[in-house]
Amino acid sequence: MTVTPLSAAVSHVGKIRSNNQDSGYAGRHLFIVADGMGGHAGGDVASAIATKRLAEADTDYSVAEDAEEALRSAMIAANSLLAETVFEHSELTGMGTTVSGILRVGDQVALAHIGDSRIYLFRDGELEQVTADHTFVQRLVDSGRITAEEAAVHPRRSVLMRVLGDVDAAPEIDTKILDTKPGDRWLLCSDGLSSYVSEERLSTILGGVRSPQDAADRMVKESLDHGAPDNVTVVIADIDGVDAAPDAAEPAGFVGSAAAPLMFDGAEDERRPIRLPTLLLHPLKSTPPEDAHFEPEREEFLEQLIEEDRRRANRRRITWLVVVAVAIAAIVAAAALAYQWTQTHYYVGVADDGTVAIFQGVQQNIGPISLSQVEQSSEVRADDLPTFERQQVEATINADDLRDALDILDRLNRLAETGAEP
Ligand code: CA
Repeated sequence: MTVTPLSAAVSHVGKIRSNNQDSGYAGRHLFIVADGMGGHAGGDVASAIATKRLAEADTDYSVAEDAEEALRSAMIAANSLLAETVFEHSELTGMGTTVSGILRVGDQVALAHIGDSRIYLFRDGELEQVTADHTFVQRLVDSGRITAEEAAVHPRRSVLMRVLGDVDAAPEIDTKILDTKPGDRWLLCSDGLSSYVSEERLSTILGGVRSPQDAADRMVKESLDHGAPDNVTVVIADIDGVDAAPDAAEPAGFVGSAAAPLMFDGAEDERRPIRLPTLLLHPLKSTPPEDAHFEPEREEFLEQLIEEDRRRANRRRITWLVVVAVAIAAIVAAAALAYQWTQTHYYVGVADDGTVAIFQGVQQNIGPISLSQVEQSSEVRADDLPTFERQQVEATINADDLRDALDILDRLNRLAETGAEP
């Protein structure tokens, strides 16, 4: 008999979206996160249907292999359910959902996963993502075409290659069995958390906040602090179990759209109940059209996207090179013109050795670069000039041109010799 993990599940609509398309579940043995998307009002329906169907597998298995098989069957069944729902409600065409779940069986967990929601294991202070993102950019990373850093800011980072939905009758689902032990903390989350709160922060919270409820609340709060543009769902399961906390509350059960009755306004604005095959019979709630991020997995499509990305990257690179080259040329030209302009000026001043000299250029320096140099030196010492003229020369006397400067120098020369104006 497996001890029920101490757990928490929190789902928040976020700060931008008008409805929550995420669903979560924390049960006795099973923990799920699903992130719905696409179609008219479809995302919340898709994640709710899949989560509720999967939750039927929440029982006590004797071996992990049975649990793994049960999860896989439940995922396939959920996929069929979504396709049937779309068949009966064509306005939901294109809806899909990610699903990631773990089912604890003694010292093992069975895991099933499709999409880009994530499952992390926090053990001995280390956080490890145990699922792979089924995204376009992860494909590019895996095939060595881009780096993980480039993937994080890639314009197509939210494009999914695999989901449950009405697209593929036999979706490729990842399943595996992992060992677990007391002290392990399992974290399941939608990309509304993992895209906005760093793994370093998640690790710090899991290492520092004992109660799974407090830890989940803290994570959602940090996503909200980052603007929470997306729905956020967090499920935490602690393997220590209820033995470690005998007064622990009941598991949270469903959160997010799976926790609410499904309501829906028809495409013609006519309220009608949705018929969910073998599931629920509730009217669905109204939602605005959602940006669909799912793209079917087809090689030629992938190649097309890669080609398009490469072209865009090349265009960007060329544009930048041209912009930089033009900017550098403009700066060099402006500097040359400015320097030329300074060299049309002359003034009379005192050279380093104390003699009066004609300088070409202007007095200012740009850093270590002097914009003037001695054009013609003289034997006249500034100290030999009458006080007034000496002060004038020390302050520099501007000349109209070289001829004017020579006249000034000539006059000063005579002054120095005679000690007075002729
Ligand atoms: Ca999302």
